[in-house]
Amino acid sequence: MPARILYVPFDHLNRHRGVLRTADPATDVVVLVESERMVSGRPWHPERLFFLVSSARHFAADLRAEGFDVRYVRAATTIDGLETVRAEIGTLPVVCAEPSSFQQSRLLAEWGADYVPNDFFLTSRPLFAQWAATQKTFVMENFYRAQRVRLGILVTNGKPEAGQWNFDADNRLPPPKNYTWPPYLEHARDDIDREVAAELGHEPTTTWATTRAGALAQLDRFISVHLAGFGPYEDAIAADNWALHHSLLSPYLNNGLLHATEVITAALDAYARGAAPIQSVEAFVRQIIGWREYINGMYWFLGEDYRNANELAADRPLLPVFTDSRKTRMNCVGSVVAGVEARAWVHHIPRLMVLSNLALLTGTNPQAFLDWMREQFIDAAEWVMVPNIIGMATHADGGQLMTKPYAAGGAYIKRMTEFCKGCAYNPAKRVGPDACPFTTLYWDFLDRHRDTFARNHRMAQQFAGLNRLVDLPELRVRAREVRDGLEAGTI
Ligand code: SF4
Repeated sequence: MPARILYVPFDHLNRHRGVLRTADPATDVVVLVESERMVSGRPWHPERLFFLVSSARHFAADLRAEGFDVRYVRAATTIDGLETVRAEIGTLPVVCAEPSSFQQSRLLAEWGADYVPNDFFLTSRPLFAQWAATQKTFVMENFYRAQRVRLGILVTNGKPEAGQWNFDADNRLPPPKNYTWPPYLEHARDDIDREVAAELGHEPTTTWATTRAGALAQLDRFISVHLAGFGPYEDAIAADNWALHHSLLSPYLNNGLLHATEVITAALDAYARGAAPIQSVEAFVRQIIGWREYINGMYWFLGEDYRNANELAADRPLLPVFTDSRKTRMNCVGSVVAGVEARAWVHHIPRLMVLSNLALLTGTNPQAFLDWMREQFIDAAEWVMVPNIIGMATHADGGQLMTKPYAAGGAYIKRMTEFCKGCAYNPAKRVGPDACPFTTLYWDFLDRHRDTFARNHRMAQQFAGLNRLVDLPELRVRAREVRDGLEAGTI
């Protein structure tokens, strides 16, 4: 007779973590709920939905093959799905790993689910809170170094491997010339994939795996083909390749198919074998045990209201280009949004330097932009996107996460990407009909927020530049034209 119902959300798909760590086919019934709210509650990117649903159905099939009684339920809401199972098999206790968002945690706890600790991260929520309580400012670098020491990763006797904690200075190369990028790994589709695709009316790409085996193949591909070159080009955007040497592992880390421990172990093994240099291995380790853990920790530390912050009073509705890449003449923006449309993913630099920068500089409402990012990206969990968008991307939190806003003009985009060559605009110009909208909006942003940022010593150079501008009146006029043109889809 079953004794427990184990509820597995679609981002906890791991046989050895969370509530399944102690699961036993003899006593436990496993429940997955495909809720209408999850599938059709928002305008989700179909590739994202396909990935999440197909991964969950494959995972359910794997558990059945292991002998579990698995109830994969389709219902209006998660709670309705759990009630349905209870009606079938009795009012057994429902156990789940701590959910990954405030809302889900509250809903399930109020309904009566019991939680086991969430071990999908290397840093528990209480441990992160302990670290944060000792900090004056929440600088990621400080957290990352503490993580390296705590976890004993690339550290000997408290000293960093190769004498440096940080190789960022080596890792800011622009896209290479005459370089052959390795081909993308393709993931074949099976019957479950085809069934989900047909239900969603979607033609999926072959970019994303939907099984544990596929996720492991992607990890193997990254380690053997890409890790060595990852660091130097991690901040670049190429015109002829959308992935560069990025790992493409975040969807699997975020839905549970992979765990940070095995990913880090694989990278450290490659380093030990001499298969990848320290600047690439460190850069990758920083993403996994630094940024990823820090963002999750900060999500829980900052609290549920943080997602509503709007300190710069940004109230512009979402620009039309975010929902249709053809609604702009800006080559960088159109190309990046087209990449999102194609595969629900672009790497972290186009997210930050192009999409978020555009939202910040145009004064787009942070919650509208947050919703769009949540809906479009294949790896976009609530815990990922809230600190990234409210803190890093739009500075809507008044600087709790970042000491200054991430604002960039056309010159920086020209240096780090290959977009400007084919663009209707000139990145060196800030006024006139062919001025780069990013360059115009960058100076206009500083001008509009002078009172907020002029005393920020990290922005002294930027304000010194602003104070030297002789064409500020024309620039303000052009900035209005640019904002209007973006709203009309003509810029
Ligand atoms: Fe983007 Fe400006 Fe370069 Fe055009 S000129 S691609 S708008 S940065």
